[in-house]
Amino acid sequence: MESRYDPELAWRVHGRRPDADEPPRAHVETYGCQMNVHDSEVIRGVLAEIGYEKAGGPEDADLILVNTCCVRETAEKRILGRIGELQGLKRRHPGLVIVVAGCMSQQEGAVERILRRASGVDIIMGTHNLYRLPDLIQEAAAARAGARPGPVVEVWTEARGEVVEGLPVRRDPGVRAWVTIMYGCDSFCTYCIVPYVRGRERSRLPEDIRREVEELALEGFKEVYLLGQNVNSYGRDLPAGPGRTFSGLLRELDRVEGVARIRYTTSHPRNFTDDIIEAVAECERVCENFHLPAQSGSTRILKRMNRGYTREDYLALVERIRRRVPGAAFSTDLIVGFPGETDADFEDTLSLVREVRFDSAFTFAYSPRRGTPAAEAPDQVPPEVKKERLHRLIETQNEVSLARNRELVGCEVEVLVEGEAERRPGLAAGRSRTNKLVLFRPPEGVKPADLVGREVVVRVEEAHTWSLEGRCVGDRDAGGPNAGRVRAEGRCPS
Ligand code: SF4
Repeated sequence: MESRYDPELAWRVHGRRPDADEPPRAHVETYGCQMNVHDSEVIRGVLAEIGYEKAGGPEDADLILVNTCCVRETAEKRILGRIGELQGLKRRHPGLVIVVAGCMSQQEGAVERILRRASGVDIIMGTHNLYRLPDLIQEAAAARAGARPGPVVEVWTEARGEVVEGLPVRRDPGVRAWVTIMYGCDSFCTYCIVPYVRGRERSRLPEDIRREVEELALEGFKEVYLLGQNVNSYGRDLPAGPGRTFSGLLRELDRVEGVARIRYTTSHPRNFTDDIIEAVAECERVCENFHLPAQSGSTRILKRMNRGYTREDYLALVERIRRRVPGAAFSTDLIVGFPGETDADFEDTLSLVREVRFDSAFTFAYSPRRGTPAAEAPDQVPPEVKKERLHRLIETQNEVSLARNRELVGCEVEVLVEGEAERRPGLAAGRSRTNKLVLFRPPEGVKPADLVGREVVVRVEEAHTWSLEGRCVGDRDAGGPNAGRVRAEGRCPS
């Protein structure tokens, strides 16, 4: 990361000197998906590299960066409101620098909308140029000093050149680390703004990803979550070679010692090929939960969404996975009230939920996104119909989730412990290989905190809609009885 960053000039903008006792402080606020959460980890790394410390909150900061999301129209309104609010802090601290980053800035007309709402914003940048942040702060400092007044705007709708490697990352502590394997999306689903704001697919090289995962293992992270808008199409933009397909990458990363689990998100059912199913079945570290966004159970609506598969294709894919990966868990994303969705189409979605028996689902009422084809469709579904369908969908999914969890009562599942349960002091909490939240009583005399990062075996005694509860009967890391690998299906009484 080459930069012409000059601390003397940039720090002056905050009313501090680089040799002052206290370094400047930065506060990062994040909206949106996991890609954005991870981008914020990179932003914090870049800021730390040039001397910023983490602020206790916005009131305490010299620089506030809002990492925005534009996937939903409501999110944009909320974010614009928040940016407007933050401007008030400048009255108390004139040296405060406000940065707006993320995919909202890359949307058509967004820069004007941001500046109309908050003229005091100093920097507007996108998602492709995070590595330019030090230089942009520098330019903002120069602008403040009068050389070039006004906000610094650098928004690229497409990345320029290759994927930038070697950016510093400040990860949140824990057992799990997020690793971006590719950027952008080529799918152009008719409701989605992502391809327009995050650009076309660009894959990182497998050797760079492997190096990062090896470093994470050395740092003590136990679970690696691979990220991309459509990870199944990883490598399509690279010349052919080892590890340059998604299945090849999974096999490559499965060899990294020290990492206990590999997960990935998001998949696209159209690109979930048999070689990926084989890789999940054969790779010990790759977990058996399949997040396969179906979006709708109606082939007619799927076609209008430009999803590239039918209901039958989706069901056949689930069937192939179930045959090859016993105990596989399925989660999904579902949209109700897409333009033109009839009662019959909606019933198809409900029946898909019952037929697949999803373990869990993220459910949404369709909200039109400016700049996408679906937003222009004349046959929008009235809000009250969407609301009622969403309610019925959630009810149906909750029943199915509870039934799926009840099937595990009496079984032993493997849990990677993350800490003490948030609302149940004394209980430890972690995730099964199938990504279910599991709470359990630790063995006598052991505190939940002592188990963080360990893989233990839990016998399930109770099932709820969103979690399982049980007691610890084995510790894979400590050895002893019951310490063997428990794959997805769990060890169940015969
Ligand atoms: S696959 Fe479709 S929904 Fe997912 S990011 Fe790409 S365009 Fe959006």
